[in-house]
Amino acid sequence: MKEGIHPEYHRAKVRCACGNEFETGSTTKEIRVEICSNCHPFFTGKQKLVDSAGRVERFRKKYAKFQSGDKQ
Ligand SMILES: [Zn+2]
Repeated sequence: MKEGIHPEYHRAKVRCACGNEFETGSTTKEIRVEICSNCHPFFTGKQKLVDSAGRVERFRKKYAKFQSGDKQ
């Protein structure tokens, strides 16, 4: 029998940097993450919207400047 072809699949405890813990199926016993669905801005929907809006605004200004300067 060869090892590694059928890794053991069991419940793994995922620990996030924010302190949130949850379980998931994995081949490893413990997973450490820096961001999870509990603290990720995408899931909280607060910071991300404000931040991305600012980036888009900045990008538009930069792109418009670049375009007009390039055509002259
Ligand atoms: Zn988290």
